[in-house]
Amino acid sequence: MSQDHESALLARVPDRLYIGGQWRAAAGGRTLDVHDPATGDVVRTVADAAPADGLAALDAAAEAFPAWAATPPRHRAEILRRAFDLLQERTEELALLMTIEMGKPLAEARGEVAYGGEFLRWFSEEATRIHGRYGPNPEGTGRMVVSQHPVGPCLLITPWNLPLAMATRKIAPALAAGCTVVIKPAELTPLTTLYLVQLLEDAGVPAGVVNAVTTSTAGEVCEPIIRDPRLRKLSFTGSTAVGQRLLEQAARGVLRTSMELGGNAPFVVFDDADLDQAVDGAVAAKFRNTGQACTAANRFIVHRAVAEEFARRVTERVQRFAVGRGTEDGAMIGPLIDARAVAKAAALVGDAVRRGATVRTGGSAIDRPGTFYAPTVLDDVAPGSDLLREEIFGPVLAIVRFDTEDEAVRLANDTEYGLVAYVYTADLARGQRMIERLETGMMGLNVGVVSNAAAPFGGWKMSGLGREGGAEGIQEYLQTKYTLTPSPFVPGPATPGLSAPSLSAPSPS
Ligand code: NAD
Repeated sequence: MSQDHESALLARVPDRLYIGGQWRAAAGGRTLDVHDPATGDVVRTVADAAPADGLAALDAAAEAFPAWAATPPRHRAEILRRAFDLLQERTEELALLMTIEMGKPLAEARGEVAYGGEFLRWFSEEATRIHGRYGPNPEGTGRMVVSQHPVGPCLLITPWNLPLAMATRKIAPALAAGCTVVIKPAELTPLTTLYLVQLLEDAGVPAGVVNAVTTSTAGEVCEPIIRDPRLRKLSFTGSTAVGQRLLEQAARGVLRTSMELGGNAPFVVFDDADLDQAVDGAVAAKFRNTGQACTAANRFIVHRAVAEEFARRVTERVQRFAVGRGTEDGAMIGPLIDARAVAKAAALVGDAVRRGATVRTGGSAIDRPGTFYAPTVLDDVAPGSDLLREEIFGPVLAIVRFDTEDEAVRLANDTEYGLVAYVYTADLARGQRMIERLETGMMGLNVGVVSNAAAPFGGWKMSGLGREGGAEGIQEYLQTKYTLTPSPFVPGPATPGLSAPSLSAPSPS
């Protein structure tokens, strides 16, 4: 990939805020720098929104809402489908852009374009399936009509680790439902969202339906939007700590909220598991996105009888990983997002080693430009180690050993999070017991990657509220209305109880 090619792509990405269909500079002309984590270089400078810009974006979303909500679902569907088609055509550009600003290997970035695009396709299909109900009340005195309506203008806040897919996973169902949005991407990866918003405009999304504000002061820009009574929905993906703060803010306006928060996924390997499959699954579940995924396996809970063999095989695989800038041929492990992430991985590994863990491979930052941490396998991690409690968000695979199924369940559930769990066993009955016993919103049974646009993605416990994707995803952007009408007068042969409206009988309120 030539430098000129990258520079030409970067120069084409919009660098301003997108509000009411116009590209405009931030109030006061502030800008923020975007870095390549593989080199530390500034690759682009974009508008740095102030609170006034955020409110201007909400103005645009509120103004566009009535017309967009009234647009025929088929029309909304066709715009989303066009966006899906454009995304396919522009896969290479978008993948390269993500690799530059976020660091993931190019092959994974292409995978994210495919995954992120699926939300546009899936919700283009769901847009025409917003259903209601019609039926008699139990007394037979009336007809109950249940209809669904878009909730209104939405604020969408997305993280840096999946900059495209986390945006389409929110924008697509919102638009399908008839909502308008303000999207605020992570400060570290604004380019992908700006590129996407341009693509949505090209697909025919009308002015004001999607607005984008990039900013280095997320709290200051978002809070006035969240306080504004015109906002009716907040959808957030990010850390649990920020999600909790946003829930407090959202409580004031009794906003609908969706929260996709942190994870601490257990990856349980029983002694009857197919170890080849388990090692493949472990590599996918741990090292995808260089470990920077909310679904990343955080704790490998492995039966003592197979733990040594599992550790040996997984270490062998990890030692063969090519580390490099995501554009380099064959690179499987890219940089971490920033120096803070490297320091966090180092601190967690240091703590585990002090408590007795063995480093099978890796175990330190890599001395080269950019923010790289060596892919690492830790064995015999002691209870109480910080990395069993905290999200590692880096390429560190930590193994603990267990003896009985009850112990595996206790260890797997011993976390405040409940996003996803992975289980490897050849015993169907045991697999079914694990489905029943694990406290998790999602589970991979003999598979290491569960995400799919057609599935309800979301967590239990402190991993979040609501679901994205699946038939559930569009519901997050719809509100229900129940209407009672009198029973219709039915001419012809008398039908007891149906012959005339009769709502005069006293009934409970
Ligand atoms: P983060 O919470 O620091 O930031 C997420 C977003 O919130 C960013 O856009 C950030 O600018 C914004 N933000 C930060 N403070 C804010 C405030 N006070 N008000 C409004 N917005 C604010 O998280 P991150 O480091 O970008 O992402 C990593 C986290 O995201 C991990 O915990 C990961 O597990 C989680 N995540 C969860 C899912 C999921 O679907 N459950 C998916 C991806 C990432």
